[in-house]
Amino acid sequence: MKTTQFVIIGLGRFGSSIGRELIELGNEVLGVDRDEEKVQELSTVLTHTVIADATEEEVLRSIGARNFDCGVVAIGDDIQASILATILLKELGVKKVVAKAVSELHGRVLERIGVDRVIYPERDMGIRVAHQLVSPNLLDYIELSKQYTIAELAVPACLTGKSLAEVNPRGRFGCSVVAINKLKGIVIAPTADDVLAEKDVMVVIGTNDQIEEFQESIG
Ligand code: ADP
Repeated sequence: MKTTQFVIIGLGRFGSSIGRELIELGNEVLGVDRDEEKVQELSTVLTHTVIADATEEEVLRSIGARNFDCGVVAIGDDIQASILATILLKELGVKKVVAKAVSELHGRVLERIGVDRVIYPERDMGIRVAHQLVSPNLLDYIELSKQYTIAELAVPACLTGKSLAEVNPRGRFGCSVVAINKLKGIVIAPTADDVLAEKDVMVVIGTNDQIEEFQESIG
């Protein structure tokens, strides 16, 4: 993967977690926070760290913010600071700006000022956890549209040793298994003869209703 340069404004729980992971994934990250302690904590993890107030235009100019491929505004509670830092990054010409919102209204303001993506970490995580709590086999999912989803389903005991032909999710529910993640590797586009084993994970695509019916049949 190509190295991308990120600038993260705000090194609280959200910003520091994004920064650490981006570094793990081989990217370059400049972290900015006005709190010296937060900066100290990450000074050996991130590529560069700066103690600064990101609502000051001069500060963002002097750290060369405009040269970064992506800016992440991870300031939460101080909504004014979040909005100001976002506007400044956009005005300086950062190609892509992603910002965290703590409320719907905060998110709407961020959208109005042209942020490329608004993230609602608590709200989205809450929704995700709720889905997982009601469907124990559901490990993760991606909503492709309002109607279609890709879901990762753990293979339950009742399906182990069965082939996809026997399980027949497409014939019974209309959803398709597009991959099986096995301990020894992933099987892409499995055939009807592929057999499910304990600890396998099925990657299923279909409408929300089809996947829900399949889940209920194995839950
Ligand atoms: P989280 O829930 O992710 O921990 P917080 O809102 O608690 O989010 O943390 C946001 C971080 O952003 C804090 O470390 C805070 O010091 C930093 N921050 C807030 N305002 C500014 C600013 N104007 N410039 C730089 N950093 C800021």
